[in-house]
Amino acid sequence: MPYARVLLKLSGEALMGKKPYGIDPAIVQSIAADVSKVVSNGTQLAIVVGGGNIFRGLKGSAAGMDRATADYVGMLATIMNAITLQDGLERAGIATRVQTAIEMKEVAEPYIRRRAIRHLEKKRVVVFGGGCGTPFFTTDTTAALRAAEINADVVFKATKVDGVYDKDPERFSDAVRYENLTYQEVLRREIAVMDSTAIALCKDNNIPIVVFNLFEPGNISKAVAGESVGSRIGNSS
Ligand code: UDP
Repeated sequence: MPYARVLLKLSGEALMGKKPYGIDPAIVQSIAADVSKVVSNGTQLAIVVGGGNIFRGLKGSAAGMDRATADYVGMLATIMNAITLQDGLERAGIATRVQTAIEMKEVAEPYIRRRAIRHLEKKRVVVFGGGCGTPFFTTDTTAALRAAEINADVVFKATKVDGVYDKDPERFSDAVRYENLTYQEVLRREIAVMDSTAIALCKDNNIPIVVFNLFEPGNISKAVAGESVGSRIGNSS
């Protein structure tokens, strides 16, 4: 396998599937089936979950809420997703631990880097909830940060589309998908795949990013096996 340790970023929207809000149990089931394959092949997997299916800080602040307060609500939303995902993974027989960046010790472990690595070595999936624990950040940045902290070989960004396009594929029928592109290109052209802080962190730590469609069953295990399932962002294109 080309990657021994993978950081998978699941956005809240991805967990929502076709539902207007919350989590689609069918999506969680399909993720669990795929994750099960990945882990049984010996790949270590950590997951960062988003919260956009429940609450986004920017939306709250646009409605007049204090931005930092709204961001804390967003972070709490990611913890709900983390616990729900843990439930789905454990029902599929996958040993899973949730670690939160905001301490909530009755429901999950606090984030302890060395402990997270130990779980991974023991073939447990670790789900990171609560983002970085600080407002004005995103869970994409959290994914890049945790990937660097746990020495992940790659960040998988599983989304609703099958890669990075030169323009919005939902609005433009002539949109072209990139196979490979560099961090520099993403930053310079402000391609909206992950926020610039996340891209810059991956660039500084030389962690490649693979962007693919989560709704295509089996894509996570294909990406782990190094198959071309979407777009790859790295140092050279
Ligand atoms: N958030 C935050 N700090 C973090 C991570 C997340 O303040 O380190 C808040 C922010 O308000 C964000 C919300 O949590 O809007 C949900 O996360 P995000 O929007 O990244 O979720 P996704 O788009 O992946 O569903």
